[in-house]
Amino acid sequence: MPKMAHQRTHLMLENYIAGKFVPCSRHLDSYDPSSGDVYCRVPDSGKEEVDAAVNAAKDAFPAWSAKSPLQRSQVLHKLADLIEAHLEEFAQAESKDQGKTITAARSMEIPRAVYNFHFFASTILHHTTECAEMDHMGCTNFTTRTPVGVAGLISPWNLPLYLLTWKIAPAIATGNTVVAKPSEMTSVTAWMMCKLLEEAGVPPGVVNIVFGTGPRAGEAIVSHPDVPLISFTGSTLTAQRIRERSAPFCKKLSLELGGKNPAIIFDDANLDECIPTTVLSSFVNQGEVCLCTSRIFVQKNIYNEFLERFVENVRKWKVGVPSDPTANMGAVISKEHLEKVKGYINLAQNEGAKILCGEGIDSLEIPDKNKMGYFLLPTVITEVKDSSRCMQEEIFGPVTCIVPFETEEEVIQRANDVKYGLAATVWSQDVGRVHRVAKKLHTGMVWTNCWLIRDLNLPFGGMKASGIGREGGKDSFEFFTEVKTITIKH
Ligand code: NAD
Repeated sequence: MPKMAHQRTHLMLENYIAGKFVPCSRHLDSYDPSSGDVYCRVPDSGKEEVDAAVNAAKDAFPAWSAKSPLQRSQVLHKLADLIEAHLEEFAQAESKDQGKTITAARSMEIPRAVYNFHFFASTILHHTTECAEMDHMGCTNFTTRTPVGVAGLISPWNLPLYLLTWKIAPAIATGNTVVAKPSEMTSVTAWMMCKLLEEAGVPPGVVNIVFGTGPRAGEAIVSHPDVPLISFTGSTLTAQRIRERSAPFCKKLSLELGGKNPAIIFDDANLDECIPTTVLSSFVNQGEVCLCTSRIFVQKNIYNEFLERFVENVRKWKVGVPSDPTANMGAVISKEHLEKVKGYINLAQNEGAKILCGEGIDSLEIPDKNKMGYFLLPTVITEVKDSSRCMQEEIFGPVTCIVPFETEEEVIQRANDVKYGLAATVWSQDVGRVHRVAKKLHTGMVWTNCWLIRDLNLPFGGMKASGIGREGGKDSFEFFTEVKTITIKH
């Protein structure tokens, strides 16, 4: 691969269509969140660019879908190996583009992008379809699965390469071709990956990436008649728009959306494990993970002890420039997002809630060139009502609310009393209670006595306003293929 150009300032990205980098006539600025400076210029693609990408994907579909799973698997493994060989460059670029710490990019985000390709390269070899005999009718029924066609893939800014590859890998493993659009705020690693596609053996047109905004490039994909499937990860608000725009075409939709995830901490919880894990689940990646904990319910008799120990742990979290390997948190994604998150903290204060920690950003020891960066300290709010917008809406930043509860029944009702239903965490050493509570929570995932342990074979996704559909080994296979039932009369 040629030397990555991201070391230059004002890097100019290009769309990747039909196996070639294609210049775009319009561009947007994309910022380095740790300084507020322009990091790169991203194509501001619209209908014209999306049409070209869809045409390329349509042209590539017959040959790619005709390849055997093993042939496609080999390409995916090769691509994974190539990304891994450039892991450090990808990690540096992701950290600079998104504001996450270099440690998070190195140890979590880019390795997971690599693993996404290896994982689907492997699972594609092991799927089977169904068969049902009807001897009394002299019939055999069986199902076949075929790729859907051109897949439209739209991803957010919080885990840029991780979430984009979580879509591209299953889409192409199953024989689809794709038109993908990363977030306009974090496009660099997707563009870097395009440089590796040819060497990996991805034929031209199988993976096309158009960069740009949601209203222009995103909507052009969603409303394109030749894109029968959309896999979207992002906010609930955008998902509503996508459902409206795709409705006339009856598209297959997978929607992975926001959360307002509770952690429920009973008085028999192992606090030595629970507290550091809950600090992590609240603030990792600056709280910019859809699965982050943002409502912590603590049983009354351990509430004071929990608060004290939790805040003590939070104060040890180091906020620093993303390139600092000792930092636990970097910068949030944008100035607008910083203002939005601060708005919730102000709201809590105006409502009479208490801010236990989070003040004092001015005392941060950061270089002068980072003084305009979008930094915020991890913030803990208490004495906040369940009805407050801080307890109901997704803040998606380093802010968590802690409130007391008394009974199991009460906490289940309160934990479920939000429009979201993505994930929950339950802490207790009573096995019966853990099972009872996990079953009653209206969320797509429940972690008990741990957080974010994922077997990619199992379904990932949310209930209620947190999404439609699930992704994972079998679920992604089913989503990215059309099933047909064939009946043979003997
Ligand atoms: P967003 O909805 O603003 O944007 C997501 C993507 O959609 C971007 O690529 C954006 O350009 C595009 N987009 C915006 N408007 C569009 C439109 N009208 N048509 C088509 N595409 C459009 O979300 P975001 O701010 O980038 O990401 C944060 C959100 O993502 C949070 O709500 C978070 O919880 C959610 N998220 C969910 C998961 C999950 O797996 N459930 C994972 C990560 C993030």
